[in-house]
Amino acid sequence: HFSNLIHSQKNLLGIKSATIPNVVDLAANSLLNKLIRQSLVESSHRVEVLQKDPSSPLYSVKTFEELRLKEELLKGIYAMGFNRPSKIQEMALPMMLAHPPQNLIAQSQSGTGKTAAFVLAMLSRVNALKLFPQCLCLAPTYELALQTGRVVERMGKFCVDVQVMYAIRGNQIPRGTDVTKQIVIGTPGTVLDWCFKRKLIDLTKIRVFVLDEADVMIDTQGFADQSIRIQRALPSECQMLLFSATFEDSVWQFAERIIPDPNVIKLRKEELTLNNIRQYYVLCGNRKDKYQALCNIYGGITIGQAIIFCQTRRNAKWLTVEMMQDGHQVSLLSGELTVDQRASIIQRFRDGKEKVLITTNVCARGIDVKQVTIVVNFDLPVNQAEEPDYETYLHRIGRTGRFGKKGLAFNMIEVDKLPLLMKIQDHFNSSIKQLDPEDMDEIE
Ligand code: ADP
Repeated sequence: HFSNLIHSQKNLLGIKSATIPNVVDLAANSLLNKLIRQSLVESSHRVEVLQKDPSSPLYSVKTFEELRLKEELLKGIYAMGFNRPSKIQEMALPMMLAHPPQNLIAQSQSGTGKTAAFVLAMLSRVNALKLFPQCLCLAPTYELALQTGRVVERMGKFCVDVQVMYAIRGNQIPRGTDVTKQIVIGTPGTVLDWCFKRKLIDLTKIRVFVLDEADVMIDTQGFADQSIRIQRALPSECQMLLFSATFEDSVWQFAERIIPDPNVIKLRKEELTLNNIRQYYVLCGNRKDKYQALCNIYGGITIGQAIIFCQTRRNAKWLTVEMMQDGHQVSLLSGELTVDQRASIIQRFRDGKEKVLITTNVCARGIDVKQVTIVVNFDLPVNQAEEPDYETYLHRIGRTGRFGKKGLAFNMIEVDKLPLLMKIQDHFNSSIKQLDPEDMDEIE
C-alpha cells in the first residue's frame, strides 16, 4: 500500500523512481532476480491448495512423465535440466493441464518455478498448425516479457512450429500484416492496442491467458484496468492463470476480480531469522574510524564473501574509492547502473570472481545472494525518523532457517548510534557482541 501511495504521488509530481532513493523498483528487482537465478529456490513449507470444487480429487505429480505431455515438450523440459517438478509445480501442473481447463491463482516467491509452469501450460495447449495467437501472456515490463519469451523458446525448442511474438512498445507491425505467431507476450497497454485498436489479435481465439507478476503489475498505474479490459473480451472457455510472488490484499482483490472460479495455490515464503548469525559491533568515533575498523577486519571477511551496506549512495561510493585506493578489490553495486550492469556485477560476485560487494539498501532489496556469509553494516539501517529500520536489518543479515548457512555480521557504530543498536538487539532478542577491531581472535 505504501509503495502504491508513493507511486501515485510520484506520478503526480512526474518524478522518476530513480530520484526517490527509498522507493523499490519492483519490476527491476524482479528482473534482476531472474537474471541471476539459475536454480530453484527451496522451501520448507507445504503448498496450500484451495480447490474451486473441493469434492473433486486433488492430483499432484512427482514426475513430468505423469503429465502425459507431448514428446517434444518433454524433451524440451529435460533439455533444460529439469528432473522433476518443483514443489509448486507438483500441485499446479495437474490443474493447469486438466481437461476441461481450470483457472488458477498461484502465489509463491520468485524462483519457485511459476514461469516454467505456465510456459509449460501454454506450450502444451498451443496448436502449432494454427497460425494465429492462441496464448496471451501479460507482463509488467518489456524486459520481463523478454525473459518469459526466452523460457518459451528454450522449453519449446523441439516444438518447431511454435513461435513467440512480443507485444511491446516499439515493436512495429506494418499495417495489413497478420500476427501468425501462436504465443503473444506483452505489456498491457500495447496488448490492448493490438487487440482493440489495431485488431492484430482476436481475443476470442485465445485459449490460455496468463497474467504474470500480478504484484508488480498493479504497482503500475493503469495496468490493472487495462488487464481487466483484455480479460473481459476473452471467451469463457479460455483458461485464465494469475501469478504473483507476494499476496497483499490489493493483489488478492485484483486476482479475484480478474480470474473467475479459480483454484488457489500458495506457498508461504521462507522466514528470515538471525538464529544462525553471530553479530558483532565495533564502536567508532567517526567515518574514518569506521573505515579503519573495516580495514582491520578486512583480512578476516575475505575468507568468505562479504556484502558491505551503506546508508547512502554517496557513502557507498566514498567507501569504494577509499578501499580501492588502499589496494582492496571491491565492487560497487549502485542504483545508477542499469539492470543489466547490476546483474553482471551480482553474477561476478556469485561466481566468486569478486569477494566484496559494496551497496546500499535500495540496490540490494529483494535480491538474495545465497553464499554471502559475512555482512557488514557500515551504516546502520535507519528510517526517516532516524529510528532503526528493523526490517531492513533483518533482510540484510537474516538467513532462512533451514537452507541458510551460518553467517557473521559486523556493525560499524558511531558512539551516538549505540542506542539504535541496542534497540535492534532488543527488538530481535538476540545478542550483538562488542568487538575490539585490533583483536580478530575474539571472533569464534
Ligand atoms: P518463478 O517464475 O517462480 O520465479 P522460474 O520458473 O523462473 O520461477 O524458476 C526459477 C529457476 O528454476 C529457473 O532458473 C528455472 O529454469 C528453474 N526451474 C524451474 N522449474 C524447475 C524444475 N522443475 N526443476 C529444475 N529447475 C527448475
